[in-house]
Amino acid sequence: MKLSNLKLKSDYLSLDDIFYHEVKPAPLKNPHLISVNPDAADLINLDHQELYTDDFIHFVNGDGKVPHKPYAMCYAGHQFGFFVPRLGDGRAINLGETNGWHLQLKGAGLTRYSRDGDGRAVLRSSIREYLMSEAMHGLGIPTTRALAIIGSTHRVYRQEWESGAIVLRMSPTWIRFGSFEYFYHNKKHQELVQLADYTLKESFPHLVGDKDAYIKMFSEVVKSTAYMIAQWMGVGFNHGVMNTDNMSIAGLTIDYGPYAFLDEYDFDYICNHTDKGGRYSFGNQPQVGKWNLEMLMHTFSPLVNVDKMKKVLDDYGTIFNKIHIQILRDKIGLKVLHDKDTELPSTLFSFMQNQRIDYTYFFRTLSHYDGDRTALLAMSLMKKPLQEWLDIYDERLKLESQSTDERLKAMKKTNPKYILKNYMLQEAIDKAENGDFSGVENLMVLAKAPFEEHKKFDHYSKDTPLEHKNLKLSCSS
Ligand code: AMP
Ligand code: MG
Repeated sequence: MKLSNLKLKSDYLSLDDIFYHEVKPAPLKNPHLISVNPDAADLINLDHQELYTDDFIHFVNGDGKVPHKPYAMCYAGHQFGFFVPRLGDGRAINLGETNGWHLQLKGAGLTRYSRDGDGRAVLRSSIREYLMSEAMHGLGIPTTRALAIIGSTHRVYRQEWESGAIVLRMSPTWIRFGSFEYFYHNKKHQELVQLADYTLKESFPHLVGDKDAYIKMFSEVVKSTAYMIAQWMGVGFNHGVMNTDNMSIAGLTIDYGPYAFLDEYDFDYICNHTDKGGRYSFGNQPQVGKWNLEMLMHTFSPLVNVDKMKKVLDDYGTIFNKIHIQILRDKIGLKVLHDKDTELPSTLFSFMQNQRIDYTYFFRTLSHYDGDRTALLAMSLMKKPLQEWLDIYDERLKLESQSTDERLKAMKKTNPKYILKNYMLQEAIDKAENGDFSGVENLMVLAKAPFEEHKKFDHYSKDTPLEHKNLKLSCSS
């Protein structure tokens, strides 16, 4: 399809006007294309050659010719445990929906919900979001997507002057836990029902008309949230800002800020440097998911019997553990069920924590383990605990029905060779700030196919260089 034929619908605007602010994007100065994502273009049936046109740059800059009714959405949220009654899209402007994907410009100017922000996003954080959402997708983890990123000569002040950018993000929904919180806490129950019905249509169409639709929707949110977080834990992803306004009702990873993958395994790792207490540390993510679901449960209380929801929420831990254990079993290549199987990952993790072993590199190396311990032992200064663990592992593998080849093949599909570590992203950002976007393109290749070999980028699959290990990131974006 040609860009000029794109039909953007804005059904959300059929809700009362308290739900949104109709606002036009404010274009950036001298926009230029940084990167486009043809896979995302396929999702909306947009011809690839359209992505390289001037019209497309204007489209991403919010001053294109495609007719649409742009708007920002209203929501609230618990930020670091404290309720903020009104947040909303402060710098994201929705262009409308096509083929089930809502197109949104992040960094496109002020809205009614900008509070004291400037409505902009800097190049640095935009590259991080653009690449990471694609990397999550490549890892098979539910996420929003990104179609394109543009840069500009627009100056945006953070701790210093930086350049403004826009990411064209896409999602099947932009409704957040915080969307429900806005109406519930403002005692707008009529609107709460409207929102619930809109959400059913948008994200749970199979439940529309079901007499238990709301409790079933809640139950699905519990499951998809548990699933998403279990997947994060599996690949060592720390989101960093799990405020309820950053929790998607569809269980998608959204709003990429100061996130990080673990370098060395550290259960208590905190990627967000403003998170002094570690509320959103790597290891806390499963519990925070439950806490956030509890906040969502309160908002559903005018719609659904609370005791019924509590019962659903009580299962969160069981649901999470089941998925998580399966992921861990896959990571170490266990197929046959055996009583003591949960002990293997837990002793491995305490060894990794004590010895500061690179998380991704270790599991990928283990995905080559055929009895020769050399490569694994080279990863640890203390050999004995790893030797002991491998002794038990070897014994356990004897109970497996699959051949070594089959096991290693399956493990290589579970344990990525490449994740986008922060130092790699920073390298790409530094280059991009000097007008060289090759780093972004290279990381996009790895993001899209993290389980493949990519010999040219082998160095990125190894231990993180010492000076870049487990750093913390600022929230300012
Ligand atoms: P975040 O931590 O990025 O999820 O943002 C929290 C809230 O602050 C959301 O409502 C954002 O839209 C808003 N926000 C963040 N940065 C800006 C900005 N530069 N200008 C306006 N609003 C912002
Ligand atoms: Mg957010």
